Amino acid sequence: MARRSKLVAGNWKMHGSTAQNQGLLNAVISRTVELKEVGIAVSVPYPYLAQAQSVLANTHVSWGAQNVSQHEKGAYTGEVSAAMLVDFGCRYVIVGHSERRALYGEDSHTVALKFRAAQAAGLIPILCVGETLDQRDAGITEQVVAEQLDTVVELTGVSALAKAVLAYEPVWAIGTGKTATPQQAQDVHAFIRRRIAANDSVVAGELQVLYGGSVKASNAAELFGMPDIDGGLIGGASLVADEFVAICDAAKN
Ligand code: PEP
Repeated sequence: MARRSKLVAGNWKMHGSTAQNQGLLNAVISRTVELKEVGIAVSVPYPYLAQAQSVLANTHVSWGAQNVSQHEKGAYTGEVSAAMLVDFGCRYVIVGHSERRALYGEDSHTVALKFRAAQAAGLIPILCVGETLDQRDAGITEQVVAEQLDTVVELTGVSALAKAVLAYEPVWAIGTGKTATPQQAQDVHAFIRRRIAANDSVVAGELQVLYGGSVKASNAAELFGMPDIDGGLIGGASLVADEFVAICDAAKN
């Protein structure tokens, strides 16, 4: 079996201020410095990318953004291109977060275009997939996740996943305090890996698949202990230094 390293990525969403960020970032750097084997990243709002770059450059913590335009450049008022994110030293960008899909009408095709644009500029996309509660109750979780995943694979080819990260985020668990049980999450992670393995077993074996949805210090170790869960995408808890550091610690092998 492929040995995958763990990644813990924070998603600050629309939170922060220069003063708050400074304290949080400094705490994360200094208190995770021993965790050599765990990848650590934060996805910050666009206006704070320069701050993230200046504080995190030459540390073990990476940074990235929460969204990116599917377009390379041009008359797209309000949009931010992948090249601009690279200009600010980003390593990662989240694409297809359920809040973008639900609140900003991003369908799977748009998400796939964003994924491709990110990679073309040299970023590592963190592709989010996941079902709503209604979809889970209707027994179509795998169908929903497969559609979200397949749309990207059809556009980019399966080999593109070799330079990407996946995040399974059940919509009903995001920001709700309801976490999927480790077994519920593991079942979907294993499904994702099987589906990719049908096209390329090496890519499937090496792909980092994160779990996201109300991960906290108190439940992280159990989730990260499942065989197909390679870390977490952390929303609310990534804003609290004690919580985020403890979650990073839980990702130690
Ligand atoms: C997220 O925003 O990706 C997320 C998982 O949020 P939370 O951890 O707050 O549920």
